[in-house]
Amino acid sequence: MDKKSLKIETSSLSEENLLQWDRVQENLKENLGLQIYTSWLKNIKLIKEYNHYVVLGVQTRFFRDWITSRYADKILDEIKKHKLSINRIEFKIQEERTDSNTIYSQTPQNNVSDIKDSILNYNRLNPNLNFENFVLGESNKLAYLSAQKICTQLSRYNPLFIYGGVGLGKTHLINSIGLKLSEENNVMFISAERFMYQFIKSIKKNEMVSFKDFFRKANVFIIDDIQFIRGKEGLQEEFFHTFNSLFDKSSQIVISSDRAPNKLDRVQDRIKSRLSGGLVVDIGNPDYELKLKILKKKITEFENTFKEYPNLNEDVINYLAKDSNSNIRELIGVFNRIVAFSKMSKKQLNVNDCKIILKDVYKSSKIITIEKIQNVTSNFFSINLQEMLSQRRSRPLARPRQIAMYLAKKLTTRSLPEIGRKFANRDHTTVIHAVKTIDKLSQNNEEIKKNVEEIKSIILSE
Ligand code: ADP
Ligand code: MG
Repeated sequence: MDKKSLKIETSSLSEENLLQWDRVQENLKENLGLQIYTSWLKNIKLIKEYNHYVVLGVQTRFFRDWITSRYADKILDEIKKHKLSINRIEFKIQEERTDSNTIYSQTPQNNVSDIKDSILNYNRLNPNLNFENFVLGESNKLAYLSAQKICTQLSRYNPLFIYGGVGLGKTHLINSIGLKLSEENNVMFISAERFMYQFIKSIKKNEMVSFKDFFRKANVFIIDDIQFIRGKEGLQEEFFHTFNSLFDKSSQIVISSDRAPNKLDRVQDRIKSRLSGGLVVDIGNPDYELKLKILKKKITEFENTFKEYPNLNEDVINYLAKDSNSNIRELIGVFNRIVAFSKMSKKQLNVNDCKIILKDVYKSSKIITIEKIQNVTSNFFSINLQEMLSQRRSRPLARPRQIAMYLAKKLTTRSLPEIGRKFANRDHTTVIHAVKTIDKLSQNNEEIKKNVEEIKSIILSE
C-alpha cells in the first residue's frame, strides 16, 4: 500500500468526520419519541467537540441531572453511530432560559456554589468505564478483585491505592468503582490536577471554607493521578488534611498513581505513609493474551455499532497483540487506526500494510536508534558493549548480540545491511539469522521471551 495516499486519506477523513449534531438530534427524536425529545433533548446544544468527547450545553442544573440519569447513554450511543471515537459526554450549564414547551422551565436556578458546579462539569464519572467492560488478565486481576472487594465492603481496605504505568487501566478501574458505589453513596471523583485547580481557585476567591466542606462531605473519595502532587507543598498540605478528615469518618478513599507510594519522590513522608496504610495493588503490563482479549472485545463493539465486521484477519490481530507496546490505550488507538485504514482502502489489510501504517505512528512519537538498542541491551545483560559487538562467538555474548539485532530490525526502519554495518560490519545474512533465531526462541523459551520484552520496554520508555 502506498504511504502517501494513505496520509492524504486520513487528513480528509478527519475533516469530514466532524459530528453532525442536528442529525444526531433527528435520530434521537425518531428513537425516543417526540415527547421526550421536545421536553428534554431539543434544547441541548453542541458546544464543543474534541477527539474523544463532546461538551453539550443544557439550560439548568436540573436539566443536566435529569438528562444524565435518563438519556446520557442513549445520546452517547447515538453520537457514536456518527463518530465512533467519542466515548464521553460532558454537560455544561448555559444561562439561557428554556423555551415554553417545557414544563420544568420555571425551575429556579439552585444556588449551587461555584465549586460544586465546576467539579460536576469536569469530573463526571464516565459511564463507559465500568466493571462490565473491563477485560481481565493476569496483569490486572488483583487490582480488579480489590476494586470489587471495596464495593461490597466499604472501607475494608482504606485507602485502596492502585498504581501502574500509563494507559494500563487505572482510571478505568477507579471510575468503575465510582460508578458502582454512586448508586448508594456520595461519591467524589476528581483528578489530583483538578483538585489543585479548585484549591487555588478557592484560595483566590476566599472560599476555602466551602472548599473544605465540599470535599469532606464525600463518603467515597476517589482521586486520580496522585503523582501530580509531587513537589507541590501547599497542595500536599491541603490533601493531607482532606485525607485525614475523610479517613477519620471512615469514608472510603481510592487513589491511583503512576508509581508505588514509596516511589513518590518529593512527597511528604507522612503522606506516603498514609497512602500505603491500606491496600496497595499494581496493574502490570498486559501480556499477549490480555491484549488479544481486548482486541477481540473491540471487534465485537465495532460489530455491534456498525453492524459489520472490521475487515481484519487473524494474522493482523495477532500481530497487533504481539507487536504493540505494553500500553492498552495505545493498543486501542492502533486498532482504531487500522480499522479506519481498512475501511478507507476497502480491502483486507495484511501484516505488512499494518507495519507501514503503524511505523508512522511510532516514528512520530519516538526515534529509536540502533545505538540506543545496543546500549540498553548490553546494559541489561551487564556485558561490555564492545564485547557484545565483537566477533567472539561465546553464547553469553552471541545471544545478547542477536537480541539487539532482532530489536534493531523490529523497532527501527533500518534495512538489514544497515543493521549489519552497525554491528561491526556484519553481513545482512547474519542479521536475518539473528532475527529468525530470536523469533523462534521467543516462542519456545520463556526466559528469552521475557528478556526481549523487558529490553523492549526499557527502550520504548526511555
Ligand atoms: P491509565 O489511567 O492507567 O493511564 P486508562 O484507564 O485511561 O489508563 O486506560 C486507557 C484506555 O485503555 C481506556 O480507554 C480504557 O478503557 C482502556 N483499558 C485499559 N485497561 C482495560 C481493560 N482491562 N479492559 C478494557 N479496556 C481497558
Ligand atoms: Mg489515568
